[in-house]
Amino acid sequence: MEHPTHDFFFSIFAFLLGAAVGSFLNVCIYRWPVDLSINRPRRSFCPACKQPIPWYQNLPLVSWLVLGGRCANCDTRISFRYFAVELVTALFFLAIWQRFPWPVAIAYWIFVSFLIIGTFIDFEHLIIPDRVTIGGMIAGVACSVIVPALMETDSRVAAGIRAGLAAALGYVILWIVLEAGKIAFGRKRVQFDSPTAFTWTKRGDDADFVVGTEESLWSEYFARENDRLLLQCDEVTIDRHEYGSVTLAFRYDRVDVDGRVLMLDDVTHISGITRQLVIPREAMGRGDLKFLAAIGAFLGWRAVLFSLFAGSLLGSIIGLITLVVGKPVWSAKLPFGPYLAFGAVVWMFFGEVVLHWYGTLLGR
Ligand SMILES: [Zn+2]
Repeated sequence: MEHPTHDFFFSIFAFLLGAAVGSFLNVCIYRWPVDLSINRPRRSFCPACKQPIPWYQNLPLVSWLVLGGRCANCDTRISFRYFAVELVTALFFLAIWQRFPWPVAIAYWIFVSFLIIGTFIDFEHLIIPDRVTIGGMIAGVACSVIVPALMETDSRVAAGIRAGLAAALGYVILWIVLEAGKIAFGRKRVQFDSPTAFTWTKRGDDADFVVGTEESLWSEYFARENDRLLLQCDEVTIDRHEYGSVTLAFRYDRVDVDGRVLMLDDVTHISGITRQLVIPREAMGRGDLKFLAAIGAFLGWRAVLFSLFAGSLLGSIIGLITLVVGKPVWSAKLPFGPYLAFGAVVWMFFGEVVLHWYGTLLGR
Protein backbone atom coordinates (compact mmCIF):
# COMPACT_ATOMS: atom_id res chain seq x y z
CA MET A 1 0.00 0.00 0.00
CA GLU A 2 1.27 3.46 -0.85
CA HIS A 3 -0.09 5.42 2.09
CA PRO A 4 -0.60 3.08 5.00
CA THR A 5 -1.08 6.00 7.42
CA HIS A 6 -3.80 7.57 5.26
CA ASP A 7 -5.48 4.21 4.92
CA PHE A 8 -5.47 3.78 8.65
CA PHE A 9 -6.99 7.18 9.37
CA PHE A 10 -9.63 6.78 6.66
CA SER A 11 -10.61 3.43 8.16
CA ILE A 12 -10.93 4.93 11.64
CA PHE A 13 -13.02 7.70 10.09
CA ALA A 14 -15.30 5.17 8.34
CA PHE A 15 -15.84 3.30 11.61
CA LEU A 16 -16.62 6.46 13.62
CA LEU A 17 -18.90 7.77 10.88
CA GLY A 18 -20.70 4.42 10.91
CA ALA A 19 -21.18 4.62 14.69
CA ALA A 20 -22.61 8.15 14.37
CA VAL A 21 -24.90 7.12 11.49
CA GLY A 22 -25.95 4.08 13.55
CA SER A 23 -27.00 6.45 16.32
CA PHE A 24 -29.22 8.24 13.79
CA LEU A 25 -30.59 4.92 12.48
CA ASN A 26 -31.65 4.10 16.06
CA VAL A 27 -33.79 7.22 16.00
CA CYS A 28 -35.39 6.11 12.71
CA ILE A 29 -35.97 2.57 14.04
CA TYR A 30 -37.67 3.97 17.14
CA ARG A 31 -39.70 6.71 15.50
CA TRP A 32 -40.65 5.64 11.97
CA PRO A 33 -43.10 2.90 12.98
CA VAL A 34 -44.89 5.24 15.42
CA ASP A 35 -44.71 8.09 12.97
CA LEU A 36 -42.97 10.71 15.08
CA SER A 37 -40.92 13.30 13.29
CA ILE A 38 -37.17 12.89 13.15
CA ASN A 39 -36.54 16.51 14.09
CA ARG A 40 -39.11 17.22 16.78
CA PRO A 41 -37.97 17.06 19.53
CA ARG A 42 -34.56 17.75 18.10
CA ARG A 43 -32.57 15.95 20.74
CA SER A 44 -32.95 12.30 21.69
CA PHE A 45 -34.97 11.48 24.77
CA CYS A 46 -35.21 8.53 27.12
CA PRO A 47 -38.06 6.22 26.03
CA ALA A 48 -39.07 5.70 29.69
CA CYS A 49 -38.86 9.09 31.44
CA LYS A 50 -38.92 11.24 28.25
CA GLN A 51 -36.02 13.23 29.69
CA PRO A 52 -33.95 14.76 26.86
CA ILE A 53 -30.50 13.21 26.67
CA PRO A 54 -27.63 15.73 26.59
CA TRP A 55 -25.07 15.30 23.82
CA TYR A 56 -22.34 14.06 26.16
CA GLN A 57 -24.60 11.16 27.23
CA ASN A 58 -25.48 10.46 23.62
CA LEU A 59 -22.09 9.59 22.13
CA PRO A 60 -22.35 6.56 19.85
CA LEU A 61 -21.12 3.28 21.41
CA VAL A 62 -19.25 5.03 24.25
CA SER A 63 -22.25 6.34 26.23
CA TRP A 64 -24.09 3.05 26.34
CA LEU A 65 -20.97 1.35 27.70
CA VAL A 66 -20.12 4.12 30.20
CA LEU A 67 -23.69 4.35 31.53
CA GLY A 68 -23.92 0.53 31.68
CA GLY A 69 -26.97 0.47 29.41
CA ARG A 70 -29.09 2.58 31.77
CA CYS A 71 -30.68 6.04 31.55
CA ALA A 72 -28.62 8.51 33.61
CA ASN A 73 -31.80 10.22 34.82
CA CYS A 74 -34.23 7.41 35.73
CA ASP A 75 -31.94 4.36 35.70
CA THR A 76 -34.27 2.44 33.34
CA ARG A 77 -32.51 -0.16 31.22
CA ILE A 78 -31.83 1.07 27.72
CA SER A 79 -32.20 -1.69 25.16
CA PHE A 80 -29.02 -3.38 23.98
CA ARG A 81 -30.41 -2.76 20.51
CA TYR A 82 -29.17 0.83 20.59
CA PHE A 83 -25.61 -0.32 21.12
CA ALA A 84 -25.96 -3.21 18.65
CA VAL A 85 -27.24 -0.97 15.84
CA GLU A 86 -24.34 1.47 16.34
CA LEU A 87 -21.76 -1.31 16.39
CA VAL A 88 -23.22 -3.16 13.38
CA THR A 89 -23.42 0.06 11.36
CA ALA A 90 -19.85 1.00 12.31
CA LEU A 91 -18.51 -2.42 11.30
CA PHE A 92 -20.42 -2.39 7.98
CA PHE A 93 -19.16 1.12 7.19
CA LEU A 94 -15.59 -0.01 7.87
CA ALA A 95 -15.88 -3.26 5.88
CA ILE A 96 -17.50 -1.49 2.91
CA TRP A 97 -14.86 1.23 2.94
CA GLN A 98 -12.04 -1.31 2.85
CA ARG A 99 -13.62 -3.45 0.16
CA PHE A 100 -14.96 -1.00 -2.46
CA PRO A 101 -13.74 2.08 -4.36
CA TRP A 102 -15.00 5.21 -2.63
CA PRO A 103 -17.96 6.22 -4.87
CA VAL A 104 -19.38 2.69 -4.64
CA ALA A 105 -18.60 2.57 -0.91
CA ILE A 106 -20.63 5.72 -0.22
CA ALA A 107 -23.62 4.33 -2.15
CA TYR A 108 -23.34 1.07 -0.18
CA TRP A 109 -23.19 3.03 3.09
CA ILE A 110 -26.59 4.47 2.18
CA PHE A 111 -27.82 1.01 1.17
CA VAL A 112 -26.85 -0.76 4.42
CA SER A 113 -28.44 2.08 6.38
CA PHE A 114 -31.78 1.24 4.74
CA LEU A 115 -31.20 -2.49 5.31
CA ILE A 116 -30.45 -1.97 9.02
CA ILE A 117 -33.52 0.21 9.61
CA GLY A 118 -35.76 -2.26 7.73
CA THR A 119 -34.34 -5.29 9.54
CA PHE A 120 -34.71 -3.95 13.07
CA ILE A 121 -38.20 -2.50 12.50
CA ASP A 122 -39.36 -5.75 10.89
CA PHE A 123 -38.08 -7.82 13.83
CA GLU A 124 -39.93 -5.65 16.30
CA HIS A 125 -43.14 -4.69 14.46
CA LEU A 126 -43.43 -7.20 11.58
CA ILE A 127 -43.77 -4.37 9.10
CA ILE A 128 -41.35 -2.45 6.92
CA PRO A 129 -42.51 1.16 6.54
CA ASP A 130 -42.72 2.75 3.07
CA ARG A 131 -40.06 5.24 4.10
CA VAL A 132 -37.62 2.33 4.17
CA THR A 133 -38.84 0.44 1.11
CA ILE A 134 -39.98 3.15 -1.28
CA GLY A 135 -37.29 5.45 0.11
CA GLY A 136 -34.75 2.71 -0.58
CA MET A 137 -36.00 2.23 -4.15
CA ILE A 138 -35.69 5.94 -4.93
CA ALA A 139 -32.28 6.15 -3.24
CA GLY A 140 -31.13 3.05 -5.15
CA VAL A 141 -32.08 4.39 -8.58
CA ALA A 142 -30.56 7.80 -7.71
CA CYS A 143 -27.30 6.24 -6.50
CA SER A 144 -27.10 4.08 -9.63
CA VAL A 145 -27.46 7.15 -11.86
CA ILE A 146 -24.79 9.01 -9.86
CA VAL A 147 -22.48 5.96 -9.57
CA PRO A 148 -23.19 3.83 -12.71
CA ALA A 149 -20.57 1.30 -11.57
CA LEU A 150 -23.26 -0.06 -9.22
CA MET A 151 -25.03 -1.44 -12.31
CA GLU A 152 -21.77 -2.46 -14.04
CA THR A 153 -21.91 0.18 -16.75
CA ASP A 154 -20.41 3.59 -17.59
CA SER A 155 -23.65 5.09 -18.82
CA ARG A 156 -25.84 6.93 -16.31
CA VAL A 157 -28.94 6.33 -18.44
CA ALA A 158 -28.28 2.60 -18.70
CA ALA A 159 -27.59 2.42 -14.95
CA GLY A 160 -30.86 4.19 -14.12
CA ILE A 161 -32.84 1.88 -16.41
CA ARG A 162 -31.15 -1.25 -15.04
CA ALA A 163 -31.78 -0.17 -11.45
CA GLY A 164 -35.44 0.53 -12.24
CA LEU A 165 -35.89 -2.82 -13.99
CA ALA A 166 -34.17 -4.70 -11.15
CA ALA A 167 -36.51 -3.00 -8.67
CA ALA A 168 -39.51 -4.03 -10.78
CA LEU A 169 -38.18 -7.60 -10.97
CA GLY A 170 -37.82 -7.68 -7.16
CA TYR A 171 -41.42 -6.60 -6.69
CA VAL A 172 -42.93 -8.87 -9.32
CA ILE A 173 -40.98 -12.03 -8.50
CA LEU A 174 -41.86 -11.87 -4.80
CA TRP A 175 -45.47 -11.06 -5.71
CA ILE A 176 -45.59 -14.27 -7.76
CA VAL A 177 -44.06 -16.25 -4.88
CA LEU A 178 -46.59 -14.69 -2.52
CA GLU A 179 -49.58 -15.53 -4.74
CA ALA A 180 -48.33 -19.06 -5.40
CA GLY A 181 -47.68 -19.48 -1.68
CA LYS A 182 -51.26 -18.49 -0.92
CA ILE A 183 -52.49 -21.32 -3.10
CA ALA A 184 -50.00 -23.85 -1.73
CA PHE A 185 -49.66 -22.76 1.90
CA GLY A 186 -52.52 -20.28 2.17
CA ARG A 187 -53.84 -21.98 5.25
CA LYS A 188 -52.32 -23.38 8.34
CA ARG A 189 -53.90 -26.25 10.22
CA VAL A 190 -53.27 -26.38 13.95
CA GLN A 191 -54.13 -29.72 15.56
CA PHE A 192 -54.21 -29.69 19.36
CA ASP A 193 -52.93 -32.71 21.31
CA SER A 194 -55.81 -32.51 23.73
CA PRO A 195 -59.11 -30.60 23.75
CA THR A 196 -58.20 -26.96 24.40
CA ALA A 197 -60.27 -24.14 25.85
CA PHE A 198 -60.66 -20.95 23.85
CA THR A 199 -62.36 -17.58 24.33
CA TRP A 200 -63.29 -14.80 21.95
CA THR A 201 -64.05 -11.51 23.69
CA LYS A 202 -65.15 -8.34 21.94
CA ARG A 203 -62.93 -5.35 22.65
CA GLY A 204 -63.87 -2.15 20.83
CA ASP A 205 -63.64 -2.74 17.07
CA ASP A 206 -61.50 -5.79 17.68
CA ALA A 207 -61.57 -8.89 19.87
CA ASP A 208 -59.19 -10.82 22.10
CA PHE A 209 -58.81 -14.38 20.86
CA VAL A 210 -57.28 -16.75 23.39
CA VAL A 211 -56.63 -20.41 22.65
CA GLY A 212 -55.01 -22.38 25.45
CA THR A 213 -52.25 -20.07 26.67
CA GLU A 214 -51.83 -18.14 23.43
CA GLU A 215 -53.39 -14.72 23.25
CA SER A 216 -53.86 -12.76 20.06
CA LEU A 217 -55.91 -10.04 18.45
CA TRP A 218 -58.72 -11.05 16.14
CA SER A 219 -57.70 -8.59 13.43
CA GLU A 220 -54.28 -10.24 13.12
CA TYR A 221 -55.76 -13.23 11.34
CA PHE A 222 -57.54 -11.52 8.49
CA ALA A 223 -55.87 -9.81 5.58
CA ARG A 224 -58.61 -10.11 2.97
CA GLU A 225 -62.37 -10.06 3.02
CA ASN A 226 -62.76 -13.72 2.04
CA ASP A 227 -60.20 -15.10 4.52
CA ARG A 228 -61.76 -17.85 6.61
CA LEU A 229 -60.79 -19.12 10.05
CA LEU A 230 -62.21 -22.52 11.00
CA LEU A 231 -62.56 -23.71 14.58
CA GLN A 232 -63.58 -27.31 15.16
CA CYS A 233 -65.30 -27.42 18.55
CA ASP A 234 -66.43 -30.13 20.96
CA GLU A 235 -68.72 -27.61 22.58
CA VAL A 236 -69.21 -23.88 22.25
CA THR A 237 -71.19 -21.10 23.89
CA ILE A 238 -72.01 -17.96 21.92
CA ASP A 239 -73.51 -15.29 24.18
CA ARG A 240 -75.28 -17.87 26.39
CA HIS A 241 -76.49 -20.00 23.46
CA GLU A 242 -74.95 -23.43 23.82
CA TYR A 243 -74.03 -25.62 20.89
CA GLY A 244 -72.66 -29.15 20.84
CA SER A 245 -70.00 -30.37 18.47
CA VAL A 246 -69.83 -27.87 15.59
CA THR A 247 -67.32 -26.26 13.30
CA LEU A 248 -67.34 -22.48 13.50
CA ALA A 249 -66.50 -20.84 10.18
CA PHE A 250 -65.38 -17.25 10.79
CA ARG A 251 -64.93 -14.36 8.42
CA TYR A 252 -63.49 -11.17 9.83
CA ASP A 253 -66.99 -9.87 10.58
CA ARG A 254 -69.23 -12.95 10.87
CA VAL A 255 -69.42 -16.52 12.03
CA ASP A 256 -71.27 -19.41 10.45
CA VAL A 257 -72.61 -21.97 12.96
CA ASP A 258 -74.11 -24.95 11.13
CA GLY A 259 -75.53 -22.75 8.39
CA ARG A 260 -76.70 -20.02 10.75
CA VAL A 261 -74.82 -16.77 10.22
CA LEU A 262 -74.19 -14.41 13.15
CA MET A 263 -72.66 -10.98 12.68
CA LEU A 264 -69.76 -10.55 15.12
CA ASP A 265 -70.90 -6.98 15.71
CA ASP A 266 -73.85 -8.47 17.66
CA VAL A 267 -71.73 -11.00 19.56
CA THR A 268 -69.81 -10.13 22.73
CA HIS A 269 -68.41 -13.44 23.99
CA ILE A 270 -67.66 -16.87 22.57
CA SER A 271 -66.07 -19.67 24.56
CA GLY A 272 -65.67 -23.40 24.19
CA ILE A 273 -63.41 -26.36 23.67
CA THR A 274 -61.57 -26.87 20.40
CA ARG A 275 -59.51 -29.64 18.83
CA GLN A 276 -58.47 -28.06 15.58
CA LEU A 277 -57.97 -24.62 14.15
CA VAL A 278 -57.41 -23.60 10.55
CA ILE A 279 -56.08 -20.06 10.10
CA PRO A 280 -55.66 -18.06 6.93
CA ARG A 281 -52.01 -17.27 6.64
CA GLU A 282 -50.47 -14.38 4.82
CA ALA A 283 -47.04 -15.78 3.98
CA MET A 284 -45.43 -12.37 3.66
CA GLY A 285 -46.38 -8.76 4.01
CA ARG A 286 -46.51 -6.34 1.10
CA GLY A 287 -43.56 -4.50 2.66
CA ASP A 288 -41.30 -7.41 1.70
CA LEU A 289 -42.09 -6.92 -2.01
CA LYS A 290 -41.00 -3.29 -1.87
CA PHE A 291 -38.01 -4.17 0.29
CA LEU A 292 -36.73 -6.63 -2.34
CA ALA A 293 -37.38 -3.95 -4.99
CA ALA A 294 -35.12 -1.56 -3.04
CA ILE A 295 -32.42 -4.25 -2.90
CA GLY A 296 -32.68 -4.59 -6.69
CA ALA A 297 -32.38 -0.83 -7.22
CA PHE A 298 -29.03 -0.81 -5.39
CA LEU A 299 -27.54 -4.18 -6.37
CA GLY A 300 -29.08 -5.19 -9.71
CA TRP A 301 -31.22 -8.09 -10.92
CA ARG A 302 -28.90 -10.96 -9.98
CA ALA A 303 -28.94 -9.77 -6.39
CA VAL A 304 -32.74 -9.93 -6.42
CA LEU A 305 -32.69 -13.62 -7.32
CA PHE A 306 -29.85 -14.37 -4.91
CA SER A 307 -31.39 -12.49 -1.96
CA LEU A 308 -34.69 -14.30 -2.44
CA PHE A 309 -32.94 -17.67 -2.65
CA ALA A 310 -30.51 -17.11 0.24
CA GLY A 311 -33.18 -15.43 2.37
CA SER A 312 -35.65 -18.30 1.91
CA LEU A 313 -32.93 -20.84 2.66
CA LEU A 314 -31.85 -19.12 5.88
CA GLY A 315 -35.49 -18.56 6.85
CA SER A 316 -36.24 -22.28 6.45
CA ILE A 317 -33.17 -23.30 8.46
CA ILE A 318 -34.04 -20.93 11.30
CA GLY A 319 -37.67 -22.05 11.11
CA LEU A 320 -36.57 -25.68 11.49
CA ILE A 321 -34.29 -24.84 14.42
CA THR A 322 -37.09 -23.02 16.26
CA LEU A 323 -39.36 -26.00 15.59
CA VAL A 324 -36.84 -28.36 17.19
CA VAL A 325 -35.59 -26.15 20.03
CA GLY A 326 -38.44 -23.87 20.98
CA LYS A 327 -41.97 -24.30 22.15
CA PRO A 328 -44.10 -24.11 19.03
CA VAL A 329 -46.23 -20.97 18.92
CA TRP A 330 -48.71 -21.31 16.10
CA SER A 331 -49.90 -17.73 16.19
CA ALA A 332 -46.36 -16.37 15.74
CA LYS A 333 -45.77 -14.48 12.53
CA LEU A 334 -42.26 -14.41 11.14
CA PRO A 335 -40.53 -11.43 9.62
CA PHE A 336 -39.04 -12.04 6.16
CA GLY A 337 -37.28 -8.69 5.67
CA PRO A 338 -34.24 -9.56 7.81
CA TYR A 339 -33.62 -12.68 5.71
CA LEU A 340 -33.80 -10.70 2.47
CA ALA A 341 -31.37 -8.20 4.00
CA PHE A 342 -29.04 -11.07 4.88
CA GLY A 343 -29.09 -12.29 1.27
CA ALA A 344 -28.43 -8.76 0.01
CA VAL A 345 -25.42 -8.28 2.30
CA VAL A 346 -23.92 -11.64 1.28
CA TRP A 347 -24.36 -10.64 -2.37
CA MET A 348 -22.86 -7.18 -1.81
CA PHE A 349 -19.63 -8.66 -0.42
CA PHE A 350 -19.43 -12.04 -2.15
CA GLY A 351 -21.60 -11.74 -5.28
CA GLU A 352 -18.60 -12.06 -7.61
CA VAL A 353 -17.42 -15.17 -5.77
CA VAL A 354 -20.90 -16.69 -6.05
CA LEU A 355 -21.08 -15.87 -9.77
CA HIS A 356 -17.61 -17.31 -10.41
CA TRP A 357 -18.43 -20.49 -8.49
CA TYR A 358 -21.73 -20.85 -10.36
CA GLY A 359 -19.93 -20.33 -13.70
CA THR A 360 -17.44 -23.09 -12.79
CA LEU A 361 -20.36 -25.30 -11.88
CA LEU A 362 -21.82 -24.81 -15.36
CA GLY A 363 -18.41 -25.62 -16.89
CA ARG A 364 -17.81 -22.14 -18.28
ZN1 LIG B 1 -34.93 7.84 31.64
